[in-house]
Amino acid sequence: MTPALQAVRGMNDVLPDEAELWLHLERVVADWFARWGYRPIRTPLVEPTALFRRAIGEATDIVEKEMYSWRDALSDEALTLRPEGTASCVRAAIEHSLLHDGPKRLWYCGPMYRHERPQKGRYRQFHQFGAEALGYPGPDVDAELIVMCDRLWQELGVAGLRLELNTIGSPEERARYRADLVRYLEANLERLDADARRRLYTNPLRVLDSKNPRVREVLAGAPVLADYLGADSRAHFDGVRSLLDAAGVAYVVNPRLVRGLDYYNLTVFEWVSDALGAQGTVCGGGRYDGLFAQLGGRPAPGAGFAVGCERLIALVRDAGRAPPPPRPDAYVLQQSADGFAQAFLLADELRAAGFRVVQHAGGGSLKSQMKKADASGAWLALIVGEEELARGEVSVKPLRRNAPQVRVPRAETVRRFAQLLQEAKS
Ligand code: ATP
Ligand code: MG
Repeated sequence: MTPALQAVRGMNDVLPDEAELWLHLERVVADWFARWGYRPIRTPLVEPTALFRRAIGEATDIVEKEMYSWRDALSDEALTLRPEGTASCVRAAIEHSLLHDGPKRLWYCGPMYRHERPQKGRYRQFHQFGAEALGYPGPDVDAELIVMCDRLWQELGVAGLRLELNTIGSPEERARYRADLVRYLEANLERLDADARRRLYTNPLRVLDSKNPRVREVLAGAPVLADYLGADSRAHFDGVRSLLDAAGVAYVVNPRLVRGLDYYNLTVFEWVSDALGAQGTVCGGGRYDGLFAQLGGRPAPGAGFAVGCERLIALVRDAGRAPPPPRPDAYVLQQSADGFAQAFLLADELRAAGFRVVQHAGGGSLKSQMKKADASGAWLALIVGEEELARGEVSVKPLRRNAPQVRVPRAETVRRFAQLLQEAKS
């Protein structure tokens, strides 16, 4: 026998029960973005590798070890499956001069690819939706991005997400801080682990989010970035904080929060849940005022966030907030070829009127069809049997409550269906 094939490790099928929840989330998200004035953008899954090297930074987990990259066999281009969405959005904004007539609020949703060790909440193909507010320099937009997340959690019925907030200042402030941090860490070299030593010269700020208790002990005495901020950076951060306070959005300032991607400056934030185990970060974002120039565009400020769909969906499900699977309004049964033709048209007319209708397929006795009707979860069974056909009628049988079956003239079935359905649901 031919062995059955399986999906690639870390890349998941989403089966219908689960896919309905995804669809629910996608609809809520699209509507929520529209209400906040964000417009959709769709970019390719495949980009030049150089885009991510330049945008995300060489000394990051993603670029060092997580990208799916290859050389195109025909064009010899170095290509990569996108590991995140911001670089592509900014590339597209530059390529199509999207900011020529002013700033833009954009959103995207789709699969991302990172070659990580698969585990709960961490996959090789995963999905993100995210916002990018391009061309806005002020703290108001940083606060807007954060507050809109808070409102989405409320709308989805997800509680207990903690907002961690920090500012990482300007590149100059960070450079001065980095020099002092490296000096301090060098002086404590023997107490660092291999990971921290490696990062010390490639990306020293990332030593700050080491999970190793021994390294954290060293970090307790390290210089703090907040002490290196100038007046402008502090004013920006204060602006964000006062808008969050006004909106009633609670946060904790986490001075160790530096985020994994190089392109951030000033505001950085994460939304974290304790209900997801080790993979608790549902959303990460921040400001990236240097990214346009870094990608060869005219300098322009930017800020955004990305939400991990798999993690958010797990929270929605665990909170019992997944909507029940939608029931068909009617399941249509038939006898004989004439009955089928009639039933086919009836189902078609009902769908055109906006109802969810499943027509029985595959033949069988009315009794066996009725079993299928029941199992479908439909509210009503519509029966086009021999007798109904002869009299120009349709039998309507409520399936979810104990109520008598009625006959309605075929010609009136569509017109009366809404009322019949309402009775069946009451
Ligand atoms: P982590 O620290 O969990 O690796 P990250 O800092 O790499 O996260 P970002 O690049 O900020 O993550 O991506 C934003 C969000 O996308 C994360 O908060 C998470 O919810 C989700 N995400 C990132 N990587 C994965 C993955 N491999 N599988 C599932 N979700 C992911
Ligand atoms: Mg990661």
